[in-house]
Amino acid sequence: MRIVLITGGSRGIGASCVRKFAEAGDKVYFLYRSSHANAKALEEETGAVGICCDVTDPAAVKEAFRNFLDGVDVLVNNAGLAGFSLFQDLSEEDWQRILDVNLGGVFRCTKAALPKMIARGSGCVINLSSMWGQVGASCEVAYSAAKAGIIGLTKALAKEVGPSGIRVNCVAPGVVQTEMNALLSAETMAELAEETPLGRIGRAEEVAATVFWLASDQASFVTGQVIAPNGGFVI
Ligand code: NAP
Repeated sequence: MRIVLITGGSRGIGASCVRKFAEAGDKVYFLYRSSHANAKALEEETGAVGICCDVTDPAAVKEAFRNFLDGVDVLVNNAGLAGFSLFQDLSEEDWQRILDVNLGGVFRCTKAALPKMIARGSGCVINLSSMWGQVGASCEVAYSAAKAGIIGLTKALAKEVGPSGIRVNCVAPGVVQTEMNALLSAETMAELAEETPLGRIGRAEEVAATVFWLASDQASFVTGQVIAPNGGFVI
């Protein structure tokens, strides 16, 4: 049975990943920051184990990984935070926070997971980027920078740990219906759907299916790649 750890598992795409891996019979753990009720409900629904852990807190991440004495087989770095503002209005604090949750979280959790993967000579890391990390989004400079950073991290790390039998890949979704986009108006969401060649917004389960495939033996020769479930928005 694989040990799978998903960060940001309490809601949205992370929660869909928890369901997908749990349904497949994996032993699933997930980290979350503040959605306690969601986490509890998901634990009851799936049998997964939620661990309250802010991925920006190095000591908390270290503590969380004490649960995995034998290591994790699959790490899904999904925890993320978006922020919408003009670049001129982007504060130092927001810049730091967005970089730290999205990119710093990937750094910290991957660093905690790798030693045991390297010792075992196997493992799989999947990082959630975004199509905005590929092409940039107006009024989301910090988020786009963080998600582009995740792509760079993924490619570099894939080269570094490939010889140790570890695959590192990236998933760069298009617009997906989750609370992350709750700040966008219905009109903006309709426009984004219209801009998407498949003519609709994506579903969290569709992203989870891509993550699940990357973690499977079907993807055993895939590493350092950016796989994009985006409805054709970015081609
Ligand atoms: P979401 O609905 O906003 O959920 C975010 C998740 O991340 C929650 O479980 C949240 O936990 C967790 N989280 C946030 N900050 C955290 C922290 N400091 N420590 C630990 N957990 C933290 O987001 P989503 O739409 O599912 O997005 C999931 C991933 O996909 C993100 O990396 C996002 O950037 C990426 N993505 C999303 C879209 C989209 O359109 N939705 C598109 C492209 C890429 P709590 O609720 O407990 O705080």
